[in-house]
Amino acid sequence: MDFIQKGKASRTYVLTIDVEIDAGRKWKTSNPATYEGVTKGIGILQPLCEKYGVKPVYLISPAVMVDPASVDFLNALDRDHCELGTHLHGEYIGPQARFTGENFSGCDPKDMQCEYEEVVEFEKLENLTEKFIKLFGFAPKSFRAGRFGARGWTLECLEKLGYTHDTSVTPFRQWHDVVDYSKPGSLSPYYPSKDNLCAVGDLKIIEVPVSITPDLTWLRPTPRRFSDFEQCKKVIDWYEGHVSPTVLCSMFHNVELVPDKSPYSRTEEDCKDMLNTIENTFKLLSERNYTFKTLSQVTVEG
Ligand SMILES: [Zn+2]
Repeated sequence: MDFIQKGKASRTYVLTIDVEIDAGRKWKTSNPATYEGVTKGIGILQPLCEKYGVKPVYLISPAVMVDPASVDFLNALDRDHCELGTHLHGEYIGPQARFTGENFSGCDPKDMQCEYEEVVEFEKLENLTEKFIKLFGFAPKSFRAGRFGARGWTLECLEKLGYTHDTSVTPFRQWHDVVDYSKPGSLSPYYPSKDNLCAVGDLKIIEVPVSITPDLTWLRPTPRRFSDFEQCKKVIDWYEGHVSPTVLCSMFHNVELVPDKSPYSRTEEDCKDMLNTIENTFKLLSERNYTFKTLSQVTVEG
């Protein structure tokens, strides 16, 4: 299986982070609500990224936007060295918010936004975007759907709201019999079809798919469930051999960088292992002359 476009040999790496409220082992939120994954997690990650010139993209959930300390922390990041965007978990924002907040202790988010009525999905995205603009002072360009639950309509909504980049597609995976990305049309960034997010089409928003191989290995340094450094390297090698232009899109959650705030990293040791995998990946990519971009800097050429 090859996804080669002739003459396009550039190599780009994008690191995307879903920014969540602290959670437990099955994603149920902390009770009382805490946000160590923001202040401590990103507090550790951002300097490591800056050391290698990586520009992480923080895609922020509405459950984080209610916490003033998290908002202050994110607002203080130097935007020459990262990008802020949005990440919808629709149960935390109206219309029809299942959890009304502002206190999101002990919530169990399970919604897939592609299952909302179209008008409800649009208004949730609009409210999320307006809230982001109010808190951060500019219009977001980049988005990922919670639980990867996007559809063509999602991207049409995002276009209307001024977004230029989406990263909800997880090639070769299907989720809960609701979303099916099992037959990817491109593993490089592409303009998707509103009828099938996996197919190349006429939408103007750029889809930057998460990097996953056909054998379902992710470029994701998450301990216990996803990839160690050797597996990350395998994904990088596979993409370089089969995908051109090579645009690697890695993802994980901020809360994985702090012990016991996600289903994955349980201990300090897990977090240390994860940071080692992240740093070793950055070193490898630097040696291989990758360009580090934010999501909104990515083009269909790389
Ligand atoms: Zn999420």
